[in-house]
Amino acid sequence: MDHFNYRDGQLYAEDVSVAEIAASVGTPFYVYSTATLVRHFQLFDDALDGMDHCICYAMKAASNQAILKTLGNLGAGMDVVSGGEYRRALSAGIPPEKVVFSGVGKTLEEITFALQNGIRQFNVESDSELEQISSIAASMNKIAPIAIRINPDVDAQTHEKIATGKAENKFGIPISRARDVYSKASQMPGISVVGIDLHIGSQLTDLEPFKEAYQKLADLTQVLRQDGHKIKRLDLGGGLGIPYEKNKSAPPLPEEYGKMVRKVLGHLDCEIEIEPGRLIVGNAGILVSSVLGVKNGDNRNFLILDAAMNDLIRPAMYDAYHDIIPVKQPSSPQAETVYDVVGPVCETGDTFAKKRKMPELSESDLVAFRSAGAYGAVMSSEYNTRPLIPEVMVNKNKFSIIRKRPSYEEIIYRDIIPDWLE
Ligand SMILES: *Cc1c(COP(=O)(O)O)cnc(C)c1O
Repeated sequence: MDHFNYRDGQLYAEDVSVAEIAASVGTPFYVYSTATLVRHFQLFDDALDGMDHCICYAMKAASNQAILKTLGNLGAGMDVVSGGEYRRALSAGIPPEKVVFSGVGKTLEEITFALQNGIRQFNVESDSELEQISSIAASMNKIAPIAIRINPDVDAQTHEKIATGKAENKFGIPISRARDVYSKASQMPGISVVGIDLHIGSQLTDLEPFKEAYQKLADLTQVLRQDGHKIKRLDLGGGLGIPYEKNKSAPPLPEEYGKMVRKVLGHLDCEIEIEPGRLIVGNAGILVSSVLGVKNGDNRNFLILDAAMNDLIRPAMYDAYHDIIPVKQPSSPQAETVYDVVGPVCETGDTFAKKRKMPELSESDLVAFRSAGAYGAVMSSEYNTRPLIPEVMVNKNKFSIIRKRPSYEEIIYRDIIPDWLE
């Protein structure tokens, strides 16, 4: 459920007309709904109620500080995957003891900076990283809290680019080596083992792969405890999917996920840490764009938008489906047309949807891509020297620009011409 609904024939974001934002900000732009963010966070919080838990929002899904602050105010921690994200989380006022540092490769600078400023835990992905963290921490007279990311070798049954829990993926340490690595970790001077971590992929639409992975995690917890390790925290990763497409079977709800977690891991008396990204912000954001024109090709109609693959890359990158709806509610009955929905970028890959049946649209009409909040703005680029598009946040009847559109000067003057060309 989200807060983007038609009211009096117009699409609203909470109590604000989307067309009004468009008139004020110019298209294309992203809009986030505060109420939807809050609701999704609370769904997870309720799902884990009664268990000691921490929800560390995977901020790579959407990292604007207005979003981080909204969630931080509810008690969220953050899962970060780079020094940039770490700084952004702190800048948004997230306490460092609620920041988990994940990611397959961490630089010396990133580790040092996090140790200096404080960290909840490093999720460690390799032996060499473990040694590196230990030696940096020891040289600073600090102890780094760590969890080892285990690769449980389960098939997440999702798009291959976002499956991360199979043995062939680059992530984590094979579960068969876990005892060995934990034994090494316990003897390192700069390391304190606090738990175990895993994350098997993104946009999972079934609980089974989670369950399979968490059962392996439960067994491993007991084995490691028998070996003498203090396992007090289990980081279950993120990955719960969202319904992008109507009329397809809906992914499990946080409530069902929570029930399963309780059943599989509840008896271990561990603090449960989860890192949802997409489910928190995905349906809390839309991308609004204007129709530049309609071009009739040989048995195809192209709906050309002012948004392009550089603004929302998911269709080009993951073959992702996004619902595309007119901002002005179609009257019924309304003539429908089949469109290929495309952007202006010079690549055939700049196609948002093929043969999509939609209400008839014409130049300057506004459309909204639903469920564009996650992996939307954060993956945008300035390809074709197209300025990064603004982000707007709505809260009831108010809206605010939370990232402005840069001027062309700001973009172009970042280039530095070497003096031999002057
Ligand atoms: C990407 C990622 C997440 C979030 O995944 P979602 O599918 O957005 O919930 C969580 N943890 C780690 C380590 C990740 O890389």
